[in-house]
Amino acid sequence: MGSISTAAQAVARIAYFSSDVILSVQPSLQVDSQFYKQFKRLRESNARSIVSKGVPEVWAIRYNEDPLLSAFHPLHSGSIVSITTASSILLTSIPHLYHLANHPIVIHVALEPSPFPDFSVVSSIRQCGFAFLHSETLQEAQDIALTAHALALKSGKGVIHFFDPTNSKHDDPISIEDIDVVKKVLDLDGTRVSHTTTAGPSTLYAEIGRLATITEERVERPLERETVALSTAISPQSKEAFNTGSDDSSVGSSGRDSSSDLHVASSSATTVDAASVRPVNAGDIFDWTAHIWGLLSKTVGRSYRAIEYTGAEDAKFAIFIFGSTGVFVDVFADPNRANEFEGIGIVTARLYRPWIGGQISRMIPSSIERIAVLEQVRSTTRWGPSFLDLLSSLTRSGGAASVPRLVGYRLGYVESSTAVQALRGIFQNLKSPSPIQNLEIGSHRDFTSQISLERPQIENAYTKILNQLFGDRLYIANQLGSQHAGISATTAASPEYGFGSLIARMEHRERFIHEVGEISKCGNFATEIPKNWLSRWVSHARNTSISNSLAPDVIARLTMDGSKAAKQLLDAKKLFFKESQWLIGSDAWAYDLGNSGVHHVLASGADVNMLIIDSQPYSERLAGDPTRRKKDIGLYAMNFGNAYVASVAVYGSYTQVLQAMAEADLFEGPSVVVAYLPYNKENDSALTVLQETKKAVDLGYWPLYRWNPGNDDGSEPKFSLDSERIKRELEEFLRRDNQMTQLMKRDPDFSSHLAGSYGTEVRVLQKRKAKDTYEKLLEGLFGAPLTILFASDNGNAQDIAKRLGNRGRARGLKTMVMAMDDYPIEDLATEENVVFVTSTAGQGEFPQNGRAFWEVVRTSGDLDLSSINYSVFGLGDSHYWPRKEDKIYYNKPSKDLDARISFLGGGKLTDIGLGDDQDPDAFQTGYAEWEPRLWQSLGVDKVEGVLEEPPPLTNEDIKLQSNYLRGTIAEGLLDESTGAISASDQQLTKFHGTYMQDDRDLRDERKAQGLEPAYSFMIRCRLPGGVASPSQWLQMDAISGAHGNETMKLTTRQTFQFHGVVKGKLRSAMRAINKALMTTIAACGDVNRNVMCSSLPEFSAYHREVYAISQRISDHLLPSTAAYYEIWLKDDEDNKVQVGGDAVQDYEPLYGTTYLPRKFKITIAIPPHNDTDVYAHDIGLIAIKGHDGHLEGFNVLAGGGMGVTHNNKKTYPRTGSMLGFVPTNQAHVVCEKIMLVQRDHGDRKNRKHARLKYTIDDMGLDVFKSKVEDLLPEGLRFAAARPFKFISNIDTFGWQQDEKGLNHFTFFIENGRVEDTANFPMRTGLRELAKLGKGEFRLTGNQHLTLSNIEDGDLPVVKSLMTQYKLGNTSFTGLRLSSSACVAFPTCGLAMAESERYLPILITKLESTLEENGLAQESIVMRMTGCPNGCARPWLAEVAFVGKAYGAYNMYLGGGYHGQRLNKLYRSSIKEDEILEIMKGLLKRYALERKGDGETPERFGDWCIRAGVIKETTEGKAFHEEVAEEEADE
Ligand code: SF4
Repeated sequence: MGSISTAAQAVARIAYFSSDVILSVQPSLQVDSQFYKQFKRLRESNARSIVSKGVPEVWAIRYNEDPLLSAFHPLHSGSIVSITTASSILLTSIPHLYHLANHPIVIHVALEPSPFPDFSVVSSIRQCGFAFLHSETLQEAQDIALTAHALALKSGKGVIHFFDPTNSKHDDPISIEDIDVVKKVLDLDGTRVSHTTTAGPSTLYAEIGRLATITEERVERPLERETVALSTAISPQSKEAFNTGSDDSSVGSSGRDSSSDLHVASSSATTVDAASVRPVNAGDIFDWTAHIWGLLSKTVGRSYRAIEYTGAEDAKFAIFIFGSTGVFVDVFADPNRANEFEGIGIVTARLYRPWIGGQISRMIPSSIERIAVLEQVRSTTRWGPSFLDLLSSLTRSGGAASVPRLVGYRLGYVESSTAVQALRGIFQNLKSPSPIQNLEIGSHRDFTSQISLERPQIENAYTKILNQLFGDRLYIANQLGSQHAGISATTAASPEYGFGSLIARMEHRERFIHEVGEISKCGNFATEIPKNWLSRWVSHARNTSISNSLAPDVIARLTMDGSKAAKQLLDAKKLFFKESQWLIGSDAWAYDLGNSGVHHVLASGADVNMLIIDSQPYSERLAGDPTRRKKDIGLYAMNFGNAYVASVAVYGSYTQVLQAMAEADLFEGPSVVVAYLPYNKENDSALTVLQETKKAVDLGYWPLYRWNPGNDDGSEPKFSLDSERIKRELEEFLRRDNQMTQLMKRDPDFSSHLAGSYGTEVRVLQKRKAKDTYEKLLEGLFGAPLTILFASDNGNAQDIAKRLGNRGRARGLKTMVMAMDDYPIEDLATEENVVFVTSTAGQGEFPQNGRAFWEVVRTSGDLDLSSINYSVFGLGDSHYWPRKEDKIYYNKPSKDLDARISFLGGGKLTDIGLGDDQDPDAFQTGYAEWEPRLWQSLGVDKVEGVLEEPPPLTNEDIKLQSNYLRGTIAEGLLDESTGAISASDQQLTKFHGTYMQDDRDLRDERKAQGLEPAYSFMIRCRLPGGVASPSQWLQMDAISGAHGNETMKLTTRQTFQFHGVVKGKLRSAMRAINKALMTTIAACGDVNRNVMCSSLPEFSAYHREVYAISQRISDHLLPSTAAYYEIWLKDDEDNKVQVGGDAVQDYEPLYGTTYLPRKFKITIAIPPHNDTDVYAHDIGLIAIKGHDGHLEGFNVLAGGGMGVTHNNKKTYPRTGSMLGFVPTNQAHVVCEKIMLVQRDHGDRKNRKHARLKYTIDDMGLDVFKSKVEDLLPEGLRFAAARPFKFISNIDTFGWQQDEKGLNHFTFFIENGRVEDTANFPMRTGLRELAKLGKGEFRLTGNQHLTLSNIEDGDLPVVKSLMTQYKLGNTSFTGLRLSSSACVAFPTCGLAMAESERYLPILITKLESTLEENGLAQESIVMRMTGCPNGCARPWLAEVAFVGKAYGAYNMYLGGGYHGQRLNKLYRSSIKEDEILEIMKGLLKRYALERKGDGETPERFGDWCIRAGVIKETTEGKAFHEEVAEEEADE
């Protein structure tokens, strides 16, 4: 049998077994309370509650979320509820306590603070109607907890069990509860009270119309005050007690101090049923408690009484303690003190409320003459409640002669070392002829100050922004941790307190303004100058910006003046500045208990700013208790009309937060900024907060807006809706709403369809309509019906379904093809023939557009499919999950569906067909075998004359038919009904430098709401060599703010990329980029892309020469179509240029009508830096310096490339092969000819085999080289490659000086993301630097940034800005500095796993290992991508992670440190735990085993090979050979 060592443990276990629902109230969700730990353990072991017979629900609720409010919902639904909490929440919960008291709820209260708890909190709430039980020892905690639950069940009323956890800290462990005893005591089958609804407002119980009542066994005479108590089944003792006077007894609910409740109860009873039903009263509680204790005594042998006395039976003196008894008990139990304290008893109240006064005199010996009453009393009260309880009870119960004399003491903190002394003092006074009342015992420091409140770290995001914005001017009235004399932390954090203190502060300044006004008129200054300044200041003192700008001048003049009057004012010089005054609160203020403070501020009209942080996660908004009434503070405040109101989200729009806070500060009147920061636990990662925020903002749950009633003149709108997407949807809604209104007038029936939510009713209608239309279309056809339903993520399953549909139709079948989720599932049972085609998503999941369908099929118990015939075809990859145990994921959705449909009665047309990516023809192999079987089963396999359907549209067709990249892009941009463009235009816009994407963080949620995905566009600039002027930087920054998502991505191809540009803003963004003298043409697509060039900060002149060549190549290879200009740039009036049609025929001399087979990439590296990864591109040029120090020419590499498909061994990464040396002025020609050979020989059938690397490997390097040379001008041939040496492929951070003495600083921009966060306003800082107009901005191939060409004279101002914005920090671990990641989630459609958002987190988790092993400064090149497309060039890293599925990565090792060698697969599909374990092990070994002196240590990638961890990859074709983990082949 286990044992229990803490009171919280004992109590939690009893609560767990005795409840359906438990609310665990705790200061934060990050750290489990003592109670909660137990609950968790019990839940994990699947322990069942005795009352519910199931595993009880346990809800963790933060103390500041109005926690007791959560009890009502489960109580109203009939659940048995208990609460575990610390005592700090009790006072603020008083309103709820009164209501809860009439429910069978138990609240276990651990008294705080430790080690000297405050019992006065309990006496303060003693009248709330609960019964109160007190336990002291560990064993008592268990027994009394059980008593509390049994009593609550029996009485139907609330019971509070309170205890001091430290009191029993040193008790010996006890046995865990005996479940049989618990069952017996709880007596679940015993009689219970009933609850009656009454209308009478006579008690606070009755306020909610609920009253615990008891049915009398026999009808008594009409109920009268005294007789009620006696008529219950009360014990002889208590009956006797009540006989002595009803005022001795109280249930304590009336709000008056003791003794009147019996009366209240009886008068209420008359309203219920005077004959047989009456409210539960104190006597009942007493009786039942005694009964429960009787049972306990019988079963476990431990006895308890309402009032307990220990000590001699002939004692003359006693102490009554309302507080922790531990230290006193220890003294009395000490045999050495036996003599000193002989003849003294201790009295405690085990049942503290209802107070059964008559029990006192029964329980204490009649010999007692004097009682010392020790209790914690707040200094506002002269007599303590216990003193008054005893006084009233003893005087009435005994008669004058025998009444013991009471002497009250104020009990402070008594430590064990001073307990004897304290007791001596007590008894000396007690025994003296005239004892002093209210003597203080122990120390009386402020016991409330120890209750600690902490604002979760995560919430600091907003305070940091306030600090950034207002600096020294910021004053937070209720700042946690600041000193407020005599005020508890809880009170100091409340809006009421903060508001009061702000008012006092404002009044203080008003007095100062008045004083300055007076002095400015008649002050005795040395000169007249201060007076003028002072009077100017006074007239603007309430205006934030003017008074603050005048303040320094005024102070300077006063300082200069030096007179006494000036000095006097200078004593309070801070008051010359107007503060930005804020109150900061949580969404707890949106509940009733906190709302009054908000109301005060608004109603006052005072110039106070409130920042209210709401942390409820979006995904939990519906899961919560529907009866919790959280008010929409924003709406509430706007209704006031006089307040500035903004709704912001720091992870939604940082700029909008800044704007709102600045506007709130300037607004003269109350301002309310409600700020969203959703989290489940205080230690949630920023990524979780970001994803929750995005959902909430995107779907309108948390709209971003600003309401400024001060904008009266009409120049600015009063209300600004800042949420971009809902703005568009709102407009659309209003437009539609307008149409609907018209429609409803004409057709009233239609309106009922609109009553439901858009996401349900309308969606159902849409499905129905789509199917009906389809059926109509099929009406004219003969033949058997065939319904084909698909679920598809990447389009393959959809293509198969459509093709199958076409072929079926050609065979005379009536085919209908739909996505599973678009199909009205209620029709399924009525179908004749159904074919399901599904691919496999994630870890064996259904694709997005089949999930809802599958959910119904999977869970529906009454779906009868016995009349349908069906077959399933599935697509999967048998090698996707290499481990044996993961094989079940292969084609899981199709197999599951097949089994389920069969289970539901479906008859098979033919067995399931499985397409496997690993088959020779990929899924086609399985399909070719399955389809004929299907036709055969339908009897249409022998149909004659079936026409071959046209081949599917390929990228080559799209290019060919596009009229030089026009397609229907222009028309698509004008279509406002969707945020998307057509599929073929999506391919074509790539050539223009923009992709359509959708926000994958929002996909599921938007689909669930019946909305199209959150489409937006990525725009990529073309920026040869990555060099931008400061003004271009500023323009790029402005574009990201005005058109994009307020961030810029500096890419691995040294250019700017913008994300989140919605269709409506696409054209203006393109125009803005071109206005900045940049372009986006050919930044993506099957053309030559941005040409890269080493950033080379240390040699400016040489860099210029090489950079010029990158520009020349870029210009030389630009497509020449005019479509770009027509679509994006022409003026609206420019009618001369035709966009659509083919009137204007372009000519593409280099590319022709079909451009290149695939993308084409060129880079230049300047040794010794390979910072552009020269081996990874179709063409890599290695700059060769001549003896004269100038650029002489280039060694040319060809056939590098990164893209791979997982598990497809026909695809592989490749490093470029050396062709030889060419002179500088011919470099662009050589590049052109290489590109032309690829244009004509590249594979245009299979895009996975279309890159130059495969062309070269297929034809052989020599053949390829000769083909290029055939095209070169006569006399130009590849010469022998010149010697060169690379030392690294990473950037050199920090300051460097070049040969001309110019300065260059390379910033660390983690993964190239330029953005502002609360911790690091990087974007703002770089913008400020650009505003200086100095030097140039060079984007590096590692996604960092160099501020170049800064002259010495400009250094101070540059450095000062860098310090101000923390931009100069490059002291990160070598691993972090050498890392890079691609974008991946949420925007990249190909991403299988996180990359940019995850790599920094992973590195953080490795950094302690690096430190421990002395590797913190070592550069190890680590890269991550979200898919094998390889945008961050992972295959060249020493260690790389490539996304396989969400949260799972393939790990590669052994890349060359300067990018010269490919790495190799080490592990497949591993998750974070494994990654960390492997990496930590390898890093430890590397630290120990690496060779080399300090200067040139053996690199990690090299070590991995030497140590035999991984085999070396010698060339691209050998990439899949001898991998460390062969994928299981079964
Ligand atoms: S590597 Fe893959 S996931 Fe990453 S950005 Fe490129 S395509 Fe997207």
